[in-house]
Amino acid sequence: MKSLGSIRRDFAPWNDPNAKPYIQFDNVTKKFGDFTAVNNLSLTIFEREFFALLGASGCGKSTLLRMLAGFEEPTAGRILLDGQDMRGIPPYRRPVNMMFQSYALFPHMTVENNIAFGLKQDGMPKPEIASRVAEMLKLVKLEQFAKRKPHQLSGGQRQRVALARSVAKRPKVLLLDEPLGALDKKLREETQFELMDLQQNLGLTFVVVTHDQEEAMTMADRIAIIDKGEVMQVATPAEVYEAPGSRFVAGFVGNVNMFEGKIARGEAGGASIDAGNGITIRTDNAGTAGAGTAVTFAIRPEKIKVSSKKPAEAVNAIEGEVYDIAYLGDMTVYHVRLDDGQVVRASTMNAARITEDPLSWNDRAWVSFRPDAGVVLTR
Ligand code: ATP
Repeated sequence: MKSLGSIRRDFAPWNDPNAKPYIQFDNVTKKFGDFTAVNNLSLTIFEREFFALLGASGCGKSTLLRMLAGFEEPTAGRILLDGQDMRGIPPYRRPVNMMFQSYALFPHMTVENNIAFGLKQDGMPKPEIASRVAEMLKLVKLEQFAKRKPHQLSGGQRQRVALARSVAKRPKVLLLDEPLGALDKKLREETQFELMDLQQNLGLTFVVVTHDQEEAMTMADRIAIIDKGEVMQVATPAEVYEAPGSRFVAGFVGNVNMFEGKIARGEAGGASIDAGNGITIRTDNAGTAGAGTAVTFAIRPEKIKVSSKKPAEAVNAIEGEVYDIAYLGDMTVYHVRLDDGQVVRASTMNAARITEDPLSWNDRAWVSFRPDAGVVLTR
């Protein structure tokens, strides 16, 4: 399989063997009583990276962030920041700032005083504070709201105040716990791009915790997928989506169809998979799995074509019946029930206004896909 790059094509320090990691979790375990929230976890994050910790509620992602910030100490293992062991170093002495889910703005203070608060505490001279606050207000486009109180702002504006306040002290690393959690969908999408711009303009390292896979996919250079306190995979969004390393990751990120089977025989650059009930899948992406290995073949819905006739050229074509159709405007999702009962999900972009090959409920239909369209998983 070809290697897949992130959007910032020239930024990939993780592929450079000489690049020095900026943040290192080194076999970190965190226990609360008998409960293991983080289990012997290792991760490296690079300077200027936008790194996302993605996982379901309770998987341990906030605990990771809190340990990095210094609010919790690991039970075992080390956390290094720029090569320095952080054990025993209090939060205020780490080059790290944290933006909390609740934003924690001071309700009685104006926007500018909220932003200035940490700078005043640090004893920064007044003229410098004023110019830094002005710079921050400009950065988050809130110049005309400087004198307002938090309750006179919208959710999105409050989020931007919190952001301005957390970057005002110019931390090297900003930790963000569900930074867009309180915003509605449309505003979230806009704010995602603002956050990415801000991170790039300031040249900061961002570590963001989210349970929202779309958010992680949109913003991050790399994503760590966490389950039960362990790292399942660390990769760019495109790799996570196109080359998931396990069934868990394939199922966690995006929609996927999975066929259980066995490698029937290896072939040049690929394999045939016996998926039972007379279904054979020909794939280019068998990796090292040899004949007889039990595998899962995973394929994304948009890589499957649905048609009323068997496509003449298709290497893989399986017959079934249209079971459900969902028209979503920009695309249509078909559920096709194969003759063995398995339901396959296929999605088609509605590029034209009229579909050439209209399909209806209960029609016989073929699902087809190319040999390079899916991945073979053994874990
Ligand atoms: P969410 O998205 O819901 O915030 P999360 O992945 O961030 O979830 P954590 O807050 O890291 O999860 O918590 C991981 C696990 O550790 C949870 O099961 C939680 O109940 C437990 N936990 C966290 N903090 C403590 C604590 N102080 N004492 C006991 N258990 C804790």
